[in-house]
Order: sequence, then structure tokens, then C-alpha cells
Amino acid sequence: MRVIAAMRDPAERIRDFKEVNLGLTEEQAVAEASRCMYCGACVKGCPVGIDIPGFMKAVSERRFDDGIDIIKEYNVLPAVCGRVCPQENQCEKLCILAQKGGAVSIGAVERYLADNHDRREAPVIKENGKSAGVVGSGPAGLTAAFELRRAGFDVTVYEALHAAGGVLRYGIPEFRLPDDTVSAEAGFLEKMGVRFRLNFLVGKTLYIDELLETHDGIILSTGAGLPGRLGIPGENLVGVMLANEFLTRMNLMKAYRFPEYDTPVLRGENVVVIGGGNVAMDSARIARRLGAEVSIVYRRTEADMPARLEEKEHAKEEGIAFCTLSAPEAILGDERGRVRAITVETMETLGAGEDGRNRIRGTGEKSTLPCDTVIEAIGQSPNVIISENVKGLAFDKKGRVVVDKDMKTSMDRVWAAGDLVSGAATVILAMGDAKKAAASMIKKLGG
Ligand code: FAD
Ligand code: SF4
Repeated sequence: MRVIAAMRDPAERIRDFKEVNLGLTEEQAVAEASRCMYCGACVKGCPVGIDIPGFMKAVSERRFDDGIDIIKEYNVLPAVCGRVCPQENQCEKLCILAQKGGAVSIGAVERYLADNHDRREAPVIKENGKSAGVVGSGPAGLTAAFELRRAGFDVTVYEALHAAGGVLRYGIPEFRLPDDTVSAEAGFLEKMGVRFRLNFLVGKTLYIDELLETHDGIILSTGAGLPGRLGIPGENLVGVMLANEFLTRMNLMKAYRFPEYDTPVLRGENVVVIGGGNVAMDSARIARRLGAEVSIVYRRTEADMPARLEEKEHAKEEGIAFCTLSAPEAILGDERGRVRAITVETMETLGAGEDGRNRIRGTGEKSTLPCDTVIEAIGQSPNVIISENVKGLAFDKKGRVVVDKDMKTSMDRVWAAGDLVSGAATVILAMGDAKKAAASMIKKLGG
């Protein structure tokens, strides 16, 4: 049977921000890897093509150093991916054991190796005399920087915030992905000689054209940090927040450790989070840890929620209510202009649409949920700082950079990858695209 890592008790964990999933022990990791049939069916489900049977075999034989070396050949962020990849929709979905005792816990074994056996020794680099700029330090930027550096490029990463990691740092909370884990994996790049220029907003501090004067090529990976809005009445009331801002204050600026960190944040007692993705789950679970009663309002069914399965389960264990088939209609305020409730319309399903998710329609039935805080987590798109400050770069109607199959943009010597190209997606998809972009740049510029 599939081995699952131990989780902290919900009653205890909602009182702090320490990691919930405790990871596999050595014996569990070896037992899980020994279930593997080494068939390779799962590899097709991994956007960076990790040799999964290779590292499973190594772990089953307790050749842990070989195991981590195999993973790092393909993936520079194994401790991150082992924790946050939606494996159930990727590699583990294709595991041939899925119907026989459960898919091998590929992510958990990957995390075990990264946490316990990553020596983080930087490879010897043969310089190629070329210079590359990478804009944005999320998973796409870090992966691009790694690939370019190991091909011999002199690499500088430009990051708008004061810490590297992108969503891994400012979006995903410590109880899912500790800061130390992100720092250690980003730090490995520094050991390889990658330079990070933080607090550097490309499009304001310097334009892309100016960066091209110092670099032979550039990869843009600035993500999708612009939050969507619902467009319903009451969104301007005091007590309505965008998940992005809430999460940034909490995770990057540590508002939950006030007054040690001098970051203010509204702490509601009765919080409604709107949305069904990872952003909604993270916001809800943080609000719960601040002591609130929390409900998630989502217009489709629970099965349609795009969040990782584990996050949905953990949210429910932590006492968060799921109000599904409920579409927000209006946020209601009191006489002082503060949120007092939200009205929702009950939806009904009409069967699965082309994308496999349920189509829905309103039933006309309305209900009102009392609350003092509403957090909107309904999706993000690329911010406009890049598009407003560059000529010659093609964007589509949703503000995403247009690329060819090699992730090359319409601008000479500029490639792009990650959420900036795909729209809000996943860590590993951003990394897969970044590998493609780096490979194309290396081919074009030499290395
Ligand atoms: P980002 O991670 O967004 O990084 C972009 C970086 O570019 C940021 O650091 C930003 O500050 C910087 N930047 C932006 N503009 C500029 C500029 N002009 N100049 C310089 N720097 C700039 N995916 C999963 O697979 N599993 C999960 O569990 C998961 N949970 C998530 C939870 C939250 C709260 C969020 C928001 C997303 C989550 N995702 C998850 C999605 C995943 O994190 C993203 O798909 C992924 O981070 C995209 O990587 P990226 O490198 O393209 O962009
Ligand atoms: Fe092992 Fe499952 Fe991958 Fe086959 S599909 S190599 S059994 S993890």
C-alpha cells in the first residue's frame, strides 16, 4: 500500500505556521521506492522529464546520493517540487500502480531525497563568455538561471522584491513550503555564481532595451501577479482584500509575527474566501491560523476546485467550511462602510464541459453569509509593468507574452517562460517552459 507521510494534528497546527506535512522517514522512503516497478510510465506526466524510475531504484537500494543527483540533473528545485507539485494530476496520475494499492508517492520520495541527501555542491562551470539576464526569480527564473549558468553563461537575475523565489516566497505559506527550503534551493544558484539583483523592477529601474545592452540574451519570467476582481457591488468596502496582498503581507512581510515584524494586516473574525484554487486555500488556512472562522465560497463543485487535493483535505481538517455551488452576488456593508455579509446565489450543475469541469447555472435562490472580511482569490494575470514599458514585444489579449514553440518572443534576443506566458499555472509547468527557453537561448547564442 502507498505510504503517506505523517501530518501534524489539525488542532495543534492551526495555532502556528510550522510545516504540516512532516515528510517520509528513511524507512518509509525506501519502502515506497521499493513498490516501484521502474516502468517509466509516470515520466510522461512530469513537465521536466525527471528520470523517476532511476531515482526510485536508487532509493530502493539506499543509494541516496545517486538518487538526488539523478533528480538534480532535471530539476534544480526538488525540495520545492516534492512539496507543492500537484503530483496527483501529473506523474502520479500515470503511475501504473494507481489502481493497485495506490500510485507511488513520487513527490514524497523526491522531497525525502532533497531534504536529507542534497549535498548542494555547485558543479564546475566552463565559462562560455556570454552574458544572460533573467527577469523575475520565481520557479521559471530560477530554472532558467540554473540551465544558463551550467551552460557557461554569466547570469544575473533581476527581481523586483527584496527576496528571491517569486510565489514560492510571497505566495505559498511557511506551513506548506518553509522559507529556509526556498532559500537553500535559490542559494545553490548563488554558489554556482548566479548574481541576484533584488529590489530591481525591470520596466522602471531599467528598461528591457537597456538590459539588452549588457546581456547577449534575456529570459522574461515575471509571472502573473495581477489579481482578478469579481466586479460585484461592495468590493470597495473596508474588509475586502485581494489574496495577493494578504498573502504578501503574511508570507513575505511576516505580518503574522506582529509586532516582531511591523507589518499591519486586517485580522477578521469571520472570513469568507472566494475562489477554489491554491491561492484560496492558502488564504483561508492563514486566516484560520490567525484565529478566524473561515468559509470558502466557490461557484462550482468541490471536485472542480483546481487546488491540490492535499490542500483541500488539509483545509477541511482545519475546520474551514466549503460553500460550493455558491456564486458571490454582492458584498454588503454596515453604516460605517465595513463588510458585514456576502450574498450568494445557489448554482446547479449541467454536466461536464469540454475542460472536464462542471458547467453551472444559477438557480435564482439567494442566501446571505455574515462575515467581517472577504478575501478575493479568483485568479491572476501578468502585470502590466513589462507590457507598458517595451516596444516590439507581442502580447495576447490576456496580457500574456506571445512565444513560439521554443519560448522565443517577437523581440530579438528575448525569450519568455512561466506564468507570464501561460497565465497562472503551476510551479513545474513554469519550470518546464523555462528549461525550453534556456535550451533555445543556449542553442542560438552558444554554450
Ligand atoms: P512567479 O513565481 O510569479 O515569479 C515571478 C517573479 O517575477 C516574482 O518574484 C516577481 O516579483 C518578479 N517580477 C515581476 N515583475 C517584475 C519586474 N518588472 N522586474 C523584476 N521582477 C519582476 N503551483 C503549484 O504547482 N503548486 C502549488 O501548491 C501552488 N500554490 C500556489 C499558491 C499561491 C498563493 C499562488 C499565487 C500560486 C500557486 N501556485 C502553485 C502557482 C505557481 O506558484 C506559479 O505557477 C509559479 O510560481 C509561476 O512561476 P513564475 O516563475 O512564472 O512566476
Ligand atoms: Fe514507478 Fe509508478 Fe513511475 Fe512505473 S509509473 S516507474 S511504478 S512510479
